[in-house]
Amino acid sequence: MSIQTVGIIGAGTMGNGIAQAVAAAGLQAIMVDISQAAVDKGLATIGASLDRLVKKDKISEADKAAILARVQGATDYAALKPAQIIIEAATENYELKLKILKQVEDVAAPGTILASNTSSISITKLAAHTREPERFIGMHFFNPVPMMALVEVIRGLQTCDATHDAVTELARTLGKTPVSVKNAPGFVVNRILVPMINEAFFVLAEGSAEPEAIDEAMKLGANHPIGPLALADLIGLDVCLAVMEVYLEEFGDSKYRPAPLLRELVAAGYLGRKTKRGVYQY
Ligand code: NAD
Repeated sequence: MSIQTVGIIGAGTMGNGIAQAVAAAGLQAIMVDISQAAVDKGLATIGASLDRLVKKDKISEADKAAILARVQGATDYAALKPAQIIIEAATENYELKLKILKQVEDVAAPGTILASNTSSISITKLAAHTREPERFIGMHFFNPVPMMALVEVIRGLQTCDATHDAVTELARTLGKTPVSVKNAPGFVVNRILVPMINEAFFVLAEGSAEPEAIDEAMKLGANHPIGPLALADLIGLDVCLAVMEVYLEEFGDSKYRPAPLLRELVAAGYLGRKTKRGVYQY
């Protein structure tokens, strides 16, 4: 299957990053969100990201204009009809994703692959609620999408080889490295990474060290490019909390309990870079 047009649901952190990567690879991107304001914000983020690339001489002004011209924003799901694959990248909430998948199936052309960029929800479980579960798959990008090389391609129990192969090929077309993973909570990277971030909030709450010291220690001691607390701000504290809650429920193991400080910061609306305040202020 040759994919020319990619539908993206959600114009937030991940949705606009995926749309940028798709358009930069020469494909058409259709990015849908619930309000025009959300769509406009997503388009503006892509514009700002491309501006940075122009400044660094990575792309020309003409490239920027051509990439932007390949991203169509919309608030109506009907705009997704021309897409051969629709990647759901909306807010991390199971009920919401089920509702979105139903709405998408009503407008998608027959044979369209449906993918989810979920960080933590079971692909097998989502697939079970779709009309063609064999054409449902996880396509898990990493933040910031235009910079990060990995895409975890997650097969649900029902996913067929043709769907897996088409999505693997799409990831390569986007200049990414696909890694095939069987469905399991957190897949591979986040299963290991998010509990580490959660642990950093316990260490912070216990007063063992200041945030900057925790991040510096992990950068130098574990050779990580960014400390766990700064990474939490980048991912979104709400996303980290939701992921831990899924692990706690799915594994039924208390070692996955979210740190109370993480909960407290999310309750305050300190979600990280996207709200200009998380562990740090921006
Ligand atoms: P975000 O909050 O930045 O953006 C979510 C967007 O979805 C918002 O713009 C919101 O308006 C939109 N939305 C909500 N309901 C919608 C609907 N019914 N139809 C269309 N759009 C709707 O969130 P995000 O960080 O971009 O995360 C999106 C998904 O990607 C989640 O499933 C998350 O787990 C996953 N993910 C996030 C990261 C990360 O680092 N942030 C990394 C990998 C995967």
